[in-house]
Amino acid sequence: MVELALAVPKERYSPAVERLEARRRETDLVRIERAVREILLAVGEDPDREGLRETPKRYARAVRELFGGLHEDAGTHLKRVFDHDHAGEDVVMLRNIPFSSICEHHLLPFTGRAHVAYLPAHGRVTGLSKLARTVDVFARRPQMQERLTAQIADALVQHLDPRGVAVVVDGEHSCLKLRGARKHDTEMRTSAFRGVYSTDRELRREVLSMMLDRRG
Ligand code: ZN
Repeated sequence: MVELALAVPKERYSPAVERLEARRRETDLVRIERAVREILLAVGEDPDREGLRETPKRYARAVRELFGGLHEDAGTHLKRVFDHDHAGEDVVMLRNIPFSSICEHHLLPFTGRAHVAYLPAHGRVTGLSKLARTVDVFARRPQMQERLTAQIADALVQHLDPRGVAVVVDGEHSCLKLRGARKHDTEMRTSAFRGVYSTDRELRREVLSMMLDRRG
């Protein structure tokens, strides 16, 4: 088995390269470029002037990256579960996971931090980096913060079958900051609780104080 694995050139089967290729296939860059040109014309700009000439191309590539999560499945990260007989049943937490997303109502960015915790069951735990990748998979789509929060929690339930999951997301929304209301300091906080964290108030209080304690 080991010899076989070594015989295969590693980079040919890199999941990261495969994902990149899938994204290249599935995002119609030319179509985005045409649309951006239309927007520029619609606001009375000249898309052919020096500064704007390459903008549709640049924007299309940025969109491909910002919406890359559409072509990814959180399962590809979370299915890499370690089955440890000796893994504890204590809380596993990753705080302050930075994310950037696009609000689906205005197609403007919202950015912030996600805090993710779960109580493992059956000795099933995943790598901390996989938690961060999971946040990314769901953030990089046209999104709502409430749904982002719920999708992260549900993916953990689906793939780790833990005793409980708690997810808190803090987001700052450009559509609030830049437009009409101009609420510059407003931050939106959403949460999702599954399993024991939705039924046991004491456990929830405990996990939230760990999660949101600024000193820790
Ligand atoms: Zn919005």
